[in-house]
Amino acid sequence: MLDRALDLLFPPRCICCNASGSALCLRCAPATAPLRRIAFGIEIRALAPYDGLWRRAVIALKDGRRDIAAALGERLGAALQAEDRYLVGIPTSAVRRMRRGFDGGELLAQLAASCDGRRASRSLIFAARDRQRGRSRAERLVARGRFRAATEILAGTSITLVDDVCTTGTTLADAARTLREHGAIVERALVVALTDCTRKRGAR
Ligand SMILES: [Zn+2]
Repeated sequence: MLDRALDLLFPPRCICCNASGSALCLRCAPATAPLRRIAFGIEIRALAPYDGLWRRAVIALKDGRRDIAAALGERLGAALQAEDRYLVGIPTSAVRRMRRGFDGGELLAQLAASCDGRRASRSLIFAARDRQRGRSRAERLVARGRFRAATEILAGTSITLVDDVCTTGTTLADAARTLREHGAIVERALVVALTDCTRKRGAR
């Protein structure tokens, strides 16, 4: 309610052209068909490559910009498919959440779900403290237990994971493994941006 009132008083402006209405206007960031990649048994769809305006938007989200979260959540909501019934955002560490004022993955999942009357759940809890940092790709693959599942009943539920950016897919794979251990079916993910794995990593 307060957000809506603030939007009326101070409408969001496009981070690219400064036009009023949305933090990502359709002229600067036109809606296109999602990119697709399969990794670790998960079909990952992304709104765009991690580049240009989309890269700026993800960085701004990580800096705690709620107007960007709203714009990205709306775009993700528009990209949902019939199979995406139940969304679970990838949580971030407590330190990052405190610094940003929100949890990016969880907020995007909530906003996307609310656009289309779906359900979003905080089924994952960030358990380890930046365990992936400084690891090689091979080490990341064997690093286990970054997340814990929340107490909610997940058995038999088909879940779509939601996150801001996907680099190698190991974070999604780790989240999927945790949820699968509780009986959930995790074969799909929707992210804002997909990095080119062949280029340098480090977006996450
Ligand atoms: Zn614009």
